[in-house]
Amino acid sequence: MKKSLSSLLRLFVLSVLVGMAVSPVFAGNYGRTSVPEINVVNNSKGVAISWEKQQNIDKYSIYRRQGLSPAVKIADVSATKNVLYIDKNAVSGTKYQYYAVAYYKGRRGAKTQTESILYLNAPKLQRVENICGGISLEWSSVAGAKEYRVYRFNGTKVACISKTDASSECKYTDANVKNYEKYTYFVVAVNGKFKSACKYSSSDKYMTAPKLKSAANANGYISVSWEPVSGAEKYLVYKKTESTKWALMKTVGNNVFSIKDTDVKNGGQYSYTVQAVKGDAVSGKDENGVVKEYVNVPGNIKLANSNDCITVKWDSVSGACAYRVYRKEGNAATWEKIAQTTNAEYNDKDINDGISYRYTVKAIGKKGGVSGHLSGKKLVALKSLTLRIYSMPDRVLLNWSPSAGATGYRIYRKNPGAKSWTFLGAVTGGAMSYYEDTGVKDGKSYIYTIRQVNGSQMGSYNATGFSFKFAKAPLLTAVLSPKGVRLQWTKASQGTGYIIDRYISENNSWSVVATINKITTLTFDHTGAEYGKDNYYRIRVKDADMLTNIETIFAIDPSKPVVALTYDDGPHPTVTHDILDVLEKYDAKATFFVVGSRVNEYKDCIIREAELGCEIGNHTYNHTILTSVGKSTMVNQVEKTNDAVEKLTGIRPVIVRPPGGSANSSVKSAVEYPLVNWSVDTLDWKNRNSTSVTASVKRNVRDGSIILMHDLYGSTASATREIVPYLIDEGYQLVTVTQLMQLKGIYMEPGKIYYSGY
Ligand code: ZN
Repeated sequence: MKKSLSSLLRLFVLSVLVGMAVSPVFAGNYGRTSVPEINVVNNSKGVAISWEKQQNIDKYSIYRRQGLSPAVKIADVSATKNVLYIDKNAVSGTKYQYYAVAYYKGRRGAKTQTESILYLNAPKLQRVENICGGISLEWSSVAGAKEYRVYRFNGTKVACISKTDASSECKYTDANVKNYEKYTYFVVAVNGKFKSACKYSSSDKYMTAPKLKSAANANGYISVSWEPVSGAEKYLVYKKTESTKWALMKTVGNNVFSIKDTDVKNGGQYSYTVQAVKGDAVSGKDENGVVKEYVNVPGNIKLANSNDCITVKWDSVSGACAYRVYRKEGNAATWEKIAQTTNAEYNDKDINDGISYRYTVKAIGKKGGVSGHLSGKKLVALKSLTLRIYSMPDRVLLNWSPSAGATGYRIYRKNPGAKSWTFLGAVTGGAMSYYEDTGVKDGKSYIYTIRQVNGSQMGSYNATGFSFKFAKAPLLTAVLSPKGVRLQWTKASQGTGYIIDRYISENNSWSVVATINKITTLTFDHTGAEYGKDNYYRIRVKDADMLTNIETIFAIDPSKPVVALTYDDGPHPTVTHDILDVLEKYDAKATFFVVGSRVNEYKDCIIREAELGCEIGNHTYNHTILTSVGKSTMVNQVEKTNDAVEKLTGIRPVIVRPPGGSANSSVKSAVEYPLVNWSVDTLDWKNRNSTSVTASVKRNVRDGSIILMHDLYGSTASATREIVPYLIDEGYQLVTVTQLMQLKGIYMEPGKIYYSGY
């Protein structure tokens, strides 16, 4: 149960009085009058002099003495009741002595004992206010006080909460307070055994002041935030500039713990503080507040790759004394401060090629305020690349290591001594690693450079460039040979030998096949080719930046028997396709000696023959018996047919079968191609019987045979359906005439007739 404050205070005042320990007074009869004991205490209005009513006394005269001066009567008081006289003229800090003289029926009676007291004004609480961290008390100073004692009544008891020396400021903050509690305070001035009276004063309900967290610059505003106060119903946000007092800026609800102040100017300094309110309880506020210089955000960030740096530029901020540059690498979550600069530009040299970097910038104001920042801009670092340059037979090959950040490359060239670069061409695809310059002349020097691109972004480039003198490199050709694959090339104009490479598709890389230490050696038989597949070769010239063309050849095993099926007089719209169906089914090759006049009539046959890897040979344009015509007709018959085939397939036939197998010395000298006849004649044109044709093949075939048939007859197509699987079962490889001759080591020459590979 709470006691009433007034009863408690009475109790307290009494205890103070007892505490004063007034000396035992002189008491007793003095003449015929009885003399009271007087009490002298400091009162809130002066010095209170009191005593109890006595018998046979009419009045008292009260005397006061100060220092060595004589006592002066300060009052006459009636003695009919208990006496209480207050000397309101007492001056704080002055020591007085009081006594009284009794009178009865006009006769002077006894004199009381003399009491001394140091008068002390009762301190007045001038301020009882909720502040940040407690309740602030301030009181008036009291002359003569040596010490102040602060007392607090919390509703149940009075306690001394502070003793402060009177030489210090008359203020105290009571931090030991609870939210929504009210307190009553009073202060007693003390000097030795003397104490003042007191005047009490009550606080408002206490409430914790919001703790300010931060004031941060953002783009166009200052953000102020604070920690919530439990139970608060609203918050009052105050703002001031350097020269003004706190002004209420905004009132926000209990679920809002931050505000954005957009009324800010670049270079201006602003302070903020916050008060919490619940009903009639109003918290104090942090009088220091949070202080912030507002600084504009550096805008318009621009990034570019140049000289193996990323150049970051931004719009300068008026009054800024420095800028901080921040970077994020890849998808990193946090910014890393990488530089502080006074210019509105920074070159970031600490970059790795192909990595994406994001940049942003903060400005620092004159008063140390740091601006907010934008989300920044992103750029992939595209550093300059090194070119390796090679001469090829008819072009320059530029090679580089592909870069992870590139979506393509741009190639530039200039002549030695020229100032500016000429754009040569672009390569699309970051994984690309080469570019071929076909516009070069033998023996001429060029300077090249390369630039990575990523979308519309341009990379750095080597400004000096890479000098190179083009010299025609050897031209490589490949044919089959009894050892596998024969490589032949033209002689290099420089270097000390040759390095032969084969492409290994499983590794996606080139592998050295042989090293030749003689520049005049121009042929090499490769025994390790992969049979039944395309093999890719190239040659590097030792000690020279030279590369041949890449040569492709379908390799066939020379250790197994081979046979060449040949079909004359076609194409035929059904029979040719029937035969091609069989060849396609067994992945077998044959040679078709076509009649030129039929080529354009049955184009689809010719195209399919080429697509299936069969060889197309020449059987004259009109099936003309060459021995019966003149030289110019011979040439015309052959070349007209070759033109027709090349036009359709892109491949110009290299062998001729003279109709009827007829060739004499004038044919041999006029036709500038090797002439191919046969070693097995099935006579299919004559017997038109598939059994007979098949039997003829089975009876006569041997390793290296060239077998004659005609793709004009259904019986020949039927025979093919039996012959092909039969020969494969017997271990034969079904190849073209050219392949067969090469595998047998026979390199055919114009003007000669060939019958077989043996
Ligand atoms: Zn014929």
